[in-house]
Amino acid sequence: MAQLPPPPPAIKNPEIKYTQIFINNEWVNSVSGKTFPTINPTNRKKICDVQEGDKADIDKAVAAAKIAFEFGSPWQQMDASKRCALLHKFADLVERDKIYLASLETLDNGKPFKDAYSGDITRVVGTFRYFAGWTDKIQGRTIPIDGNFFCFTRHEPVGVCGQIIPWNFPLALFALKIAPALACGNTVVIKPAEQTPLTVLYAAQLFKEAGFPPGVVNVVPGFGPTAGGAISSHPDINKTSFTGSTEVGQAIMVAAAKSNLKRVTLELGGKSPLVVWKDANLDDVVEWAERAVFYNCGQMCTAGSRTYVHEDIYEQFVKKAKARAQAKVIGDPFDPKSEYGPQVSEEQFNKILELIQDGVKDGAVLECGGQRYGTEGYYIQPTVFSNVTEDMKIGREEIFGPVQSIMKFKDMEEIIARANDTKYGLAAAIFTEDIDTALTFTSRVKAGTVWVNCYNKTSISSPFGGFKMSGMGREFGEYGLQAYTEIKNVVMKTPVKL
Ligand code: ADP
Ligand code: MG
Repeated sequence: MAQLPPPPPAIKNPEIKYTQIFINNEWVNSVSGKTFPTINPTNRKKICDVQEGDKADIDKAVAAAKIAFEFGSPWQQMDASKRCALLHKFADLVERDKIYLASLETLDNGKPFKDAYSGDITRVVGTFRYFAGWTDKIQGRTIPIDGNFFCFTRHEPVGVCGQIIPWNFPLALFALKIAPALACGNTVVIKPAEQTPLTVLYAAQLFKEAGFPPGVVNVVPGFGPTAGGAISSHPDINKTSFTGSTEVGQAIMVAAAKSNLKRVTLELGGKSPLVVWKDANLDDVVEWAERAVFYNCGQMCTAGSRTYVHEDIYEQFVKKAKARAQAKVIGDPFDPKSEYGPQVSEEQFNKILELIQDGVKDGAVLECGGQRYGTEGYYIQPTVFSNVTEDMKIGREEIFGPVQSIMKFKDMEEIIARANDTKYGLAAAIFTEDIDTALTFTSRVKAGTVWVNCYNKTSISSPFGGFKMSGMGREFGEYGLQAYTEIKNVVMKTPVKL
């Protein structure tokens, strides 16, 4: 794996500048007057209070986004090349404030600053620049139909997009939900996760500074059932895109169906198999498997959370995986040496520790970790289980935490059946030197992304999304644009055959 250059020093106490609701390029308080605290997961102390939006605030934001989208508005009338320039301008501003934004992300989410800087915020810039490039390349077709007719398609923006995002990659997922929507000419109302609203709120101000017209981007912090529910059931929202848990994704789809059949894109949970074939390079694969499950403290929908190892190398692998996990440096995410910070919230922290207990009860072998780390924050020791099977809770359920579950297998038929024995289908990987083994696995495993001899290599230009209950639709790349346009077919009578 390529080593990134070290990031510049972080700002340890980033100033909190924006805590209100952003509608029509203005900062306002919640209609109800309510606020909620956002917590520092390293010490469980309140960082600040944020205005709590609910239905009344979503209504205001949607009204603004609807007006901004209407025919004749500055946004609707804007040339695609100007939209491109605005998206690039926003990316420029994120680059200008990159150290500040990465520091704020670390404070609110708890992820190591080096990951926030080189991972998350770098991605935000890349996402905006990539979709900026699409603004003037969204094209329809001319279609030869029978008779004297001229037939063509227009790819028109869908309208107001109501976006709901989680807390694991707060600003990176914000970018992913906004950039393609804007590239196609839509307007947006977005709700950040209640655990991590701060970077998204700061970014809202950058849209204003970049020169986006009022109402094009609106940000309403608040809770899921209230503010989120108001988005998914809103009659004037034309499309919703959600990243989060499978249960909430199902609720959003029901609400979308019952309200106005708004278009729905869902990126949900996973329990992704990472398969280590007997010929794999063991030291190399131990590193990949470690990052696959421990990066971002395991708080990743793509986490390689079922590590299947061929029986010939199983014992050796378990020994090395355990040593690797024990060598991980846990600590203050602002310390450049830390590979690993706290979980995001008390709810997640408790849920993960409970699942670890279930693993022990169900008879998995706890090789290392399994306990809280320290006494102040939501830190959990990197945890490795061996002898895991799919009938155990830790072998089936998404843990979303720093827990590696190692399982033993014998042959291809068995591993295909076991890899697919899950309601999820987000990602999968195989490590092997043999091309036939790799091709057999990639074609038969049911997953939206399959990696061979690597893991978590996602790119803004290639599609991402789930089979089965891991989601609907695709994000990233040209495929990801499809969710943000309606296709209009136009048929004109002509005097002769053209
Ligand atoms: P997690 O359980 O990991 O926090 P969730 O799926 O609950 O993940 O949350 C992801 C996002 O969905 C958050 O922004 C949250 O506020 C929102 N959310 C939670 N419940 C609902 C709901 N019933 N309707 C709409 N949004 C929701
Ligand atoms: Mg939840």
